[in-house]
Amino acid sequence: MLDCMKAEIVSVGTEILLGEILDTNAQYISSRLPALGLDLFYISKVGDNLGRLTDTIEKALQRSDIVITTGGLGPTEDDLTREAIAEAFGEEMFVDPDAESRLRQFFESRGVAFPERNVKQAMLIPSAMALPNPRGTAPGWWVEKNRPEGETQYVIAMPGPPAEMTRMWEQEVEPRLRDMLGAEVLVTRTLKTIGVGESHIDEMLSPLLKSQNPTVGIYAKVDGVHVRLGAKAATEEAARELIAPAEEEVRRILGDILWGADDDSLEGVLGEMLDDRGLTLATMESCTGGLLASTITDVSGSSTYFKGGYVAYTERMKQMLGVSAELIETHGVVSAEVAGDMARAARHGLDADYGMGVTGVAGPDELEGKPPGTIHVAVHDGRAPEVVSYTFYQGRMATKRRAVTTALFLLRRSLLAHH
Ligand code: ATP
Ligand code: MG
Repeated sequence: MLDCMKAEIVSVGTEILLGEILDTNAQYISSRLPALGLDLFYISKVGDNLGRLTDTIEKALQRSDIVITTGGLGPTEDDLTREAIAEAFGEEMFVDPDAESRLRQFFESRGVAFPERNVKQAMLIPSAMALPNPRGTAPGWWVEKNRPEGETQYVIAMPGPPAEMTRMWEQEVEPRLRDMLGAEVLVTRTLKTIGVGESHIDEMLSPLLKSQNPTVGIYAKVDGVHVRLGAKAATEEAARELIAPAEEEVRRILGDILWGADDDSLEGVLGEMLDDRGLTLATMESCTGGLLASTITDVSGSSTYFKGGYVAYTERMKQMLGVSAELIETHGVVSAEVAGDMARAARHGLDADYGMGVTGVAGPDELEGKPPGTIHVAVHDGRAPEVVSYTFYQGRMATKRRAVTTALFLLRRSLLAHH
């Protein structure tokens, strides 16, 4: 069909406008559209108000081919999405007898009396077809209507609860859209780097960045800079073939700073490296309060290489675990020297091949006259500690997370260098 159909998302619900719920439905749907080759230019959020909702849908229909709504399909008075679509298309709603009997059965099978106002959920308009919703009571609507000029327009209405919406999307909506759109498929491949800044990567890849198909994009993320390749073609396979040589080129240029692809996590990739090499790991962390150990153990099977982690929050506990009192005295608890000694002590205490130490100031207050965001992470492999130190503050949680990512990065560097 048309290779550049435009989609638009309308999230319905006053709760969204009040900031009570996060519009994860729009995020989910928008993440699924590129693979269908659909362009998305607008996402609207609108409250449970018939006039404004109708208005929003009408506006969306003026500039987009496919309007996807979520929410407002329930039985209550403020669920108005059906009414608004009917109004936007100028059609009358009627009760679909089949849908009504299915709905009555649904309640009967649960031993609940049928609330008459639920009849609303069995309503249709002539241009609409019901989409089944086994996870709830509100069916969706697939509305298809020709514009006076001849082009077909679509409104797809799905329920608000994410579990119902995602099931309907995967089972009912996406297969239909795929069939209907036929041609263009977008395939993306994300290559993940760490340790080198966005602008430097941009420079390294500059000859590739002009490419149209596949496109090459650079995005800074919490776990490093991502390079995303995207190709459009008639089939998924053909799109993959377009991506392959570009990926090879990116890999050749970036080399060791690439650590994974697509859904890979840094802790997962590291786990594999440790497992492959038969190496073990132990941690001692202060300001991250166990987040490093928690992240390492997010990987199933981590018990084969992770011996354990100490959360040594106080100076006393650090000393109990063998961290040098003299180093603490001389350099302070927040120091590269103490991070290195924590890594050494963790490695020694748990008889591991690698020890990791993290100390710093999670903030917002300073410590030992050192500003919030001061971080020292260390890896010890039995020779000497390697330490990375920096100061960067964007809040307490972000500081802890960044310290964990940096520690994992350092471990990877050490593994690549010595094993
Ligand atoms: P119901 O039959 O449950 O009333 P509905 O289709 O009428 O479904 P809403 O009443 O608009 O949907 O929303 C029901 C719930 O679904 C909300 O309270 C919220 O928890 C969730 N929800 C709705 N819209 C969204 C959204 N855009 N993103 C995430 N969650 C949402
Ligand atoms: Mg509702």
